[in-house]
Amino acid sequence: MARAQATRAPHSSGRPQPHLTVVGGGFAGLTAAITAAEAGARVTLYESHHTLGGRARTADEEYRTNEGPHALYNGGPHWTWLKQRGLIGDLAPIPPMEGTRLRLHHHGALRRMPPLAMLRLLRRAPEQAPVDVDFATWAGALVGEEGARAAAHYSAVALFHHDPGSLSARFVHTRLRRAAKLPPEAHYPVGGWGAVIDRMAAMAWNLGVRVETLARVDDVTEFADRGPVVVATSLDAARRLLGDDTLRWESGRTALVDVALRTRRGDLFALSDLDATGWVERFTAQDRTLAPAGEQLIQAQIPIGPEESKADGVARAEYLLDLGFRDWRERVTWRRAAVANGRTGALDRPGTTWRDRPSVNRGEGVYLAGDQVAAPGLLSEVSFNSAIEAVTLALTSRGGFGGLGGSNDTDDTGAHTRTGSHTQADSRAPAHAHAAADAKAGAGAEAGAEADGKDVAGRSSDGKPAPWIDLKSA
Ligand SMILES: Cc1cc2nc3c(=O)[nH]c(=O)nc-3n(C[C@H](O)[C@H](O)[C@H](O)COP(=O)(O)OP(=O)(O)OC[C@H]3O[C@@H](n4cnc5c(N)ncnc54)[C@H](O)[C@@H]3O)c2cc1C
Repeated sequence: MARAQATRAPHSSGRPQPHLTVVGGGFAGLTAAITAAEAGARVTLYESHHTLGGRARTADEEYRTNEGPHALYNGGPHWTWLKQRGLIGDLAPIPPMEGTRLRLHHHGALRRMPPLAMLRLLRRAPEQAPVDVDFATWAGALVGEEGARAAAHYSAVALFHHDPGSLSARFVHTRLRRAAKLPPEAHYPVGGWGAVIDRMAAMAWNLGVRVETLARVDDVTEFADRGPVVVATSLDAARRLLGDDTLRWESGRTALVDVALRTRRGDLFALSDLDATGWVERFTAQDRTLAPAGEQLIQAQIPIGPEESKADGVARAEYLLDLGFRDWRERVTWRRAAVANGRTGALDRPGTTWRDRPSVNRGEGVYLAGDQVAAPGLLSEVSFNSAIEAVTLALTSRGGFGGLGGSNDTDDTGAHTRTGSHTQADSRAPAHAHAAADAKAGAGAEAGAEADGKDVAGRSSDGKPAPWIDLKSA
């Protein structure tokens, strides 16, 4: 472990305060740290990188690129939570003129309107899409193979898979509807997501969270005497850290091509490929702060299959740039390409839902948060929901403050307490635990919005009730 980036004395209430360790300082880890600190816990957060943010980092350079999130979807539970805390900051609205510069690449031509079949499909409520059938089969039976394919390709902007038609119809249709919603759900914080992360880090500091950067954790048992641990890393990193080979879930593989171009009138704002998966967006259209004056910053996100190479993704990105950005090759001032492999969030195959992913509660005081675990939501909303869930379970668990290897009753009592209902375990939980539950109640109402039809009552992957569903129906 290395240097402490930020340490402030936690507030004192005269009562011994529980301690929570958070491993990972991305969106999930910061959500967990803030939630626990607001609930009165002492929190230490370890981040292996020298800065916080994980995939939500925005490059601190001339061209302020994002690896991952550009958009905050206002239909998600994190939106309200961040807003209530003043963490969203200024938003960069899409100028109306730019909004008219969205094009769809369909049958080899650029079009303004989606195919009629796709519009017909969008009228279907998410609950009508089955979990057990793949999207291509379900949608194809309703609107024809061609319309189903176009719709599947459009949905890739919110799920990053090269063949969304092969995924669960419910999973894809839920994302398709959110990505195509008008007015759009997608909002852009000025300065990129990194600006949101900076505000979250400042809030954690003000709440007394101890943050250590350049502090890679290799063994969570070293915190055994301190209290529960929330592992808020990617699922791959959690698998290695916890030595648990079952921690696996499918994710996407996407080529990311960032280019900066000298400004030229007439460039598109965004281009969605309906003939294959791919999305190109000029992010300076809404946020001029992302590139120097006179230049535009564009990112192409091209999901690629397991057999495809980065070069294949770059070639498709260049093809789309040729279509939407005239003379772009002569205008390039900077460019780079990368592949985000298994880093774009969970994908649910037919017959599976978020409830089948690795559960949040790993037992013995260890909880998982991240975007490939058993929590609902789109992209980073899964990280958010699981972080709130992890902290709620950690702070309401009877064995929660007893340290790792503490009470073996954890799984049977507090860890699966139905938040908001007064069970035996709830009455044993200290007051701060209820504060965490309150935080969750605020977030939970919307978190439950992603119905997946498997079990309306809501069961977590370990068969226990999922509290956010309880909160919604309460
Ligand atoms: C191309 C792309 C586009 C995306 N677009 C969007 C979007 O538009 N909207 C949206 O909402 N989401 C989007 N996402 C998803 C979003 O980026 C992620 O869901 C979210 O950032 C994940 O946050 P996290 O905290 O769960 O994980 P991470 O961001 O991966 O954070 C985990 C942290 O843990 C640290 N760590 C790992 N191992 C250790 C260890 N042993 N010890 C200490 N620290 C450790 C890592 O350094 C990292 O900082 C996108 C993702 C990608 C890749």
